[in-house]
Amino acid sequence: MSRTVYVNGDYLPEEDAKISVFDRGFLMADAVYEVTSVIDGKMLDFAGHATRLMRSLGEIDMKAPCSIDELEAIHREMIKRNDLTEGLIYLQVTRGIADRDFVYPDVEPSMVLFTQAKSVVNSLIAKHGMKVISIPDIRWGRRDIKTVQLLAPSMGKMAAKAAGADDAWLVEDGFVTEGTSNNAYIVKQDGTIVTRDLSHDILSGITREAVLRFAAEAQIKVEERPFTIEEAKQAKEAFVTSATTFVGPVVEIDGVMIGDGKVGDTARRLREIYISESLKTAI
Ligand code: PMP
Repeated sequence: MSRTVYVNGDYLPEEDAKISVFDRGFLMADAVYEVTSVIDGKMLDFAGHATRLMRSLGEIDMKAPCSIDELEAIHREMIKRNDLTEGLIYLQVTRGIADRDFVYPDVEPSMVLFTQAKSVVNSLIAKHGMKVISIPDIRWGRRDIKTVQLLAPSMGKMAAKAAGADDAWLVEDGFVTEGTSNNAYIVKQDGTIVTRDLSHDILSGITREAVLRFAAEAQIKVEERPFTIEEAKQAKEAFVTSATTFVGPVVEIDGVMIGDGKVGDTARRLREIYISESLKTAI
């Protein structure tokens, strides 16, 4: 069955959903995006994603295509029209359509949304954990802005795949920044969670914010600071967070088993808490 795709105010069959070749998202990756997960037909952390979208737009002087309330209405309509019970909604805003020029044109932004049905609650990663490799972080210096420049993370995933792993952790100046499409964490032998502090170096994950809040509520100690791959290899557990992975356990780093090589208790518990608590506020 063909999906319904949103393009600049219209809900279209996916075959008819088209964007100009002059769109700056296509020509210059002059675009930002958000991914919101859906469970039982409801969006998790919608407010967080909408707020981060507005921040990303502001950081690159791009006009907002609509208000947060309108954005929510469009997301809801997309869930309805696509009969989406579980999966994700992808949203992209580009600067718009103009002749090629490095100077920002004064045009209206383009906005596109589509849905992807996917099993997000019961995933193989949640059950068995994932293997990661470490690779140099070759991305640009404003990773706090959620732009569509995703070639470096794609190359990272391909390197992981070639090495027989599931994902890559990115390393800069000897310290882990984040995963290719997620925030990275370790759990020390005393149970303390360590994850990199927020800066221009990483994306401020909406899932990260929620998971750190739930960890604090569960009396788990959290240190927000950089850590090395060597420290990670000595850790009791490791995991990642993202909107579609929630909390994804990591059981191997660069071929070294983490803990006993099985999904850790902290990651399992935080995943359960994240899903149940987020569902309470899902809209
Ligand atoms: N870091 C990067 C580089 C990402 O691409 C993502 C996923 N968009 C995240 C972190 C996690 O962010 P969120 O929890 O908001 O999905």
